[in-house]
Amino acid sequence: MLLRCSRPSQPLLRHTDVPQRVTESFILSGYRFPDYSLRECLASAFRPTNETGNFWTHFLAVFVFAFHFLELFWWEDQPALSDPFFYPFWNYFIGVFCLLMASSMAHLLNSMSLLIREICFFVDYGTISAYTVGSSLAYFYYIHPQAGLPGTGLRNTTQERPQVLEGPSLPPPSSQSSSSTLPEFHVFFENFYIPSACVVALLCTLACCCTRQRWRRYRYVIRTMVFLLPFIVASTPVFYRLLRPSQHSAVSLSRSSATLAPFFYRHCFWLLVSALFNISKFPERLSPGKFDIWGHSHQWFHCFTFLSILDELHMIKAEIRALALPLASPLMQPLLPGPTLCSTYGVMFALQGCIGAIISWFAWGACRSRSTQAEHCKSH
Ligand SMILES: [Zn+2]
Repeated sequence: MLLRCSRPSQPLLRHTDVPQRVTESFILSGYRFPDYSLRECLASAFRPTNETGNFWTHFLAVFVFAFHFLELFWWEDQPALSDPFFYPFWNYFIGVFCLLMASSMAHLLNSMSLLIREICFFVDYGTISAYTVGSSLAYFYYIHPQAGLPGTGLRNTTQERPQVLEGPSLPPPSSQSSSSTLPEFHVFFENFYIPSACVVALLCTLACCCTRQRWRRYRYVIRTMVFLLPFIVASTPVFYRLLRPSQHSAVSLSRSSATLAPFFYRHCFWLLVSALFNISKFPERLSPGKFDIWGHSHQWFHCFTFLSILDELHMIKAEIRALALPLASPLMQPLLPGPTLCSTYGVMFALQGCIGAIISWFAWGACRSRSTQAEHCKSH
C-alpha cells in the first residue's frame, strides 16, 4: 500500500490498454488503469484525465446548488429553517446533494478497481432515483393543486387577516376540492403519487444496475429512457397545474403561475438536451480522440442536467414564496395535511434503505463474478 501511495503518477493509457469494461465509446485516451490507490484517485482530480471534467462538473455544482438553495432562507418573512413546512424542501436538498456528490465521487474513485467501479456506478444510479423522490416530495407539498400552508407553525394568514377568512363567500375546503379538482386526479395525487414515485425509482435503479451486466450495447439509451419514466411520474402535479389551474392555487396563480411554466419548460428543455448528448455521444462521435479530456458528451450531459436541476429549484422556490407570503389569499386554506417527519424524511430514508439493499445485492453479484473469473483464470 505504501509503495502504491508513493509511486510516481502512472501514465495515462489508451483504450486498447485498459479492460474493455472501462472504455467509453469514441474516447481513445486519457484512461487511468483500474488499480489506483485512494490517494492517487483523489490526486487525479487535478490531473487532466478523461474523468477530470466529469468530476468537476458535478462537484462544483454542489456549491452552486447549495448557494441557491440557502438563498430562500435569506428572504424576509420566511418561516424558520426547521419549520415542518420546509421538510420537503430539505428532502429535495438531500436528493440533489446525494446525486451530485455520488456522481462526482463515482467519476473520481472508479479507477480503484473494477469492482469499486461497478459499485460507484450502482450508487450513482441509486442517488438519481432518490433525487426523483426528493423532487416528488417537493412537488407534492408545494406544487400539488391542493398544496397549502399547514395550519400552525407559520405566519399563517388566518391569524393575520381573520376578517377575510370569516367572510361568507368562502366555501368549505371539501366543496372547493370537488369543484376544482377532477376526482380521479384527486385520488391519484393524495393516495398514489408518492408511492408511485418510490416504486418507479426502485425499478429504475434495478434496470440501470442491470445495464452494467447485460444489454451493454444499448446501455445509454436504456439508462436515458429509464429516467424519463420517473420524470413523467414526478411531474404530474406540474402537468396538472399547467393544464387545469386550480382555484386552490389562487395564490400560486397570482404570484407564481407566471414563473411556474417558464421554469418548468426550461427544466424540460435542459433535460432533453442532456439526454440528446448522453445518447448521441456528440461531439466525440464526430472526431474520436479529439475530445478525450475536455468537451466530451458526458461533461455536457452533467452541465445540462445541472441546469435542469437549477431551474427546478427556482420553480420550487417560487411556489414556496407564493405559499408562505403573509399576503396570502384565503383560498390558501390547506386541503392536504402538512408535511410531517414521517411523510418526508421517513419516506426518503426508507427509499434510501431499499436502494441500499438493491445496490448491495448487485455489488455482491459483481464481487462473486469477479472471484469466479479469478478462479477460472487460475485453473487455466
Ligand atoms: Zn456522470
